[in-house]
Amino acid sequence: MEIHNRKVAIIGAGFVGSSIAYALTLKNLANEIILVDIDKKKAEGEALDIQHGISYMGRSSVRAGDYSDCSDCDLIVVTAGRNRRKGETRLDMVQDNLKIMDSVVSKLKKHYTRGAIIIISNPVDILTYYVDKKMGLPNGRVFGTGCILDTSRLIRELANYTGLSTEVVKCNIIGEHGDTQIPVWSRLAIAGVPMDEYCQNVGLRWDDSVREQLYSKVKTMGSTIIEDKGRTHYGIATCVCSLADAVLNQRLTIASVTTPLTGQYNINDVALSLPSIIGVNGVENRLVEYLSNDEYKALQISSKKMKETIASIKI
Ligand code: NAD
Repeated sequence: MEIHNRKVAIIGAGFVGSSIAYALTLKNLANEIILVDIDKKKAEGEALDIQHGISYMGRSSVRAGDYSDCSDCDLIVVTAGRNRRKGETRLDMVQDNLKIMDSVVSKLKKHYTRGAIIIISNPVDILTYYVDKKMGLPNGRVFGTGCILDTSRLIRELANYTGLSTEVVKCNIIGEHGDTQIPVWSRLAIAGVPMDEYCQNVGLRWDDSVREQLYSKVKTMGSTIIEDKGRTHYGIATCVCSLADAVLNQRLTIASVTTPLTGQYNINDVALSLPSIIGVNGVENRLVEYLSNDEYKALQISSKKMKETIASIKI
C-alpha cells in the first residue's frame, strides 16, 4: 500500500515511546516518525537505532525533533511520564505524571494544528481527561489507550483456556485501566456464540471461579511483568499499532479506549474505557451495549473512583 502523508509525533522516547516507533516502522504505518523528548540525546539515539534497519524493510523516516514538529501531524502519541515502581498502583503516579503532562500540554498547544492525540502515560484515564480539558478539542480527538491492553490480555487468556486462536474470542474490558476494570462477561462470545453456550457445547467449565481466576490474572498482569522486568512496553506498542492503523489509514476499528464520557451509562465528566469506534478523528463514537446489573454497577464504581481522584488533584 502506498504511504501518503502519515506524520506521527511521539512525545516521550522512553521504553514505551521507542517501542511504538519501532512497531510502527515494522508495520510501515507511518511515513514520518518524530521522537520528542526532554532528553534530546536519548531521542536521537533511539531514532538512529530504529532507522538503521529500515534499509532492508520499511519506508518510514524516523528522527528526533522538538515540539514544533507536532504541527501538521496526523497522529500525536504521548508517552512522557515516569513508570510504575514495584508495588505501586497506576494512581500512585498521578501527581508526578500530571506535572509532566502539564509541561507537555503547554508546549504541544503552541504547535498543534490537527490530528488525533493518543495518551498512553499513566494513570491514563486521569491524564486523558486532563489533556482533553486543556487542549479544548472536539470530544474524541484526545483519547487514551485505556483498557485496550487489558482486553488484549484477556483475549490471550481466553484463547489459552479454550485452546482456540485469539481471532475468534470477542470480549471487552471497560472502565478504569486499573484496579476497578470490568470484564464484560455477559457479552463474551466465541465467534459470535455466547461463551456459556460454547462451553456447554464443548464440555468446558465456565463458572464464577474460572472467571475470577482469569480476571485476577489479567488485572495483575501489568504488575507481574513489572516485578519480572521492571516495565511493560511491547504489549502496549503492539496495541497502539492497531489504533494508528485506524487513524492513519482510515481503517475504522473498535477498541476499548478511554475518552471523557458524555452521558453513556449516565456517566459524564470523567474518562473511562468503552468499546469505541476509532478513525481519522480519533474516537468517533462509543458503543453502549446492554450490561448485566453487576457490570453496570461496577462501571459506576469505576467512575466514582476516577471522579474522586480528579477531585483530589489540582487540574
Ligand atoms: P520511560 O521512563 O522509559 O520514558 C519516559 C520518557 O518521557 C523519558 O525518556 C523522559 O525523558 C520523557 N519525558 C519526561 N518528561 C517529558 C516532557 N515534558 N516532554 C517530553 N518527554 C518527556 O517510561 P516508559 O516505560 O516509556 O513509560 C512511559 C509511560 O507509559 C509511563 O507513565 C507508564 O506507566 C506508561 N505505560 C502505559 C501503558 C498503558 O497501557 N497505558 C503501558 C505501559 C506503560
